[in-house]
Amino acid sequence: MRIDVLTLFPEIIESYASTSILGIAREKKLFELISHNFRDFSSDKHKCVDDVIYGGGAGMLLKCQPIFDCLDSIYNQIDKSSSTLIVTSPSGQKFDQKLAKELSQKQNLIFVCGRYEGLDQRIVDQADLNISIGDYVLTGGELAALTIIDASVRLIPGVLGDAQSLEQESFSEIDILALMEKYQVSKKELQEFLDRTGLKTKEDLKNVKFIEYPQYTRPAEFRGIRIPSVLESGDHKKIFLWRLEQSIKSNALI
Ligand code: SAM
Repeated sequence: MRIDVLTLFPEIIESYASTSILGIAREKKLFELISHNFRDFSSDKHKCVDDVIYGGGAGMLLKCQPIFDCLDSIYNQIDKSSSTLIVTSPSGQKFDQKLAKELSQKQNLIFVCGRYEGLDQRIVDQADLNISIGDYVLTGGELAALTIIDASVRLIPGVLGDAQSLEQESFSEIDILALMEKYQVSKKELQEFLDRTGLKTKEDLKNVKFIEYPQYTRPAEFRGIRIPSVLESGDHKKIFLWRLEQSIKSNALI
């Protein structure tokens, strides 16, 4: 995957994308990331990238010319038809794990990071996706782009050392009924489990959105606080059922 980021602050993008797991994946060429300062493309002699808003209104808007020209230079290097152009704004579609999964399978992602009051609508209209990372307003699109990049890139095969860590993390699609079979959960144990979690039937387990259960590391007791005893029991079925119960209980909280 190749990711291009159009930003006035490439250093923000570079700093995050060269650190930790993303940095290692980038070095291993599991994905490529190129940040472009679209100010470099401004035809204005003062390299201006923003202008006042037609019809009035507070603040400045990022204008078309530098961003369109920067995009053209990228489309000279990649196949435009295989690329996904993304803008971010508080009014976009809400980002989630499903969208991260979809984006992780794309060949080329291009992000345009807004600043000031945002982007001229003619830039937004070029985009395949307009994504919001939540109902709040950031000062710029860089954190939003990095959030989307981080959540998507870590789903590219090979990026996380241990692929298993993806299998049972929050929002992943888990076949709970298959796991019940794997752990040979008896009818009685299943019924007790349903009673404890307030689920009516086994079928309700299909609709459970998986949220990660509480996890602990050594020592088993720290400042007088002990880990739940079931985790030291060595009984894999009991541990599975306990974790699933915690997951379902945290589900009820979201
Ligand atoms: N005037 C805009 C509004 O009222 O919706 C806010 C613009 S904001 C100050 C500047 C830029 O930050 C936006 O163009 C967008 O790129 C980014 N941004 C801010 N909040 C965001 C969010 N919740 N999700 C995604 N991007 C966001």
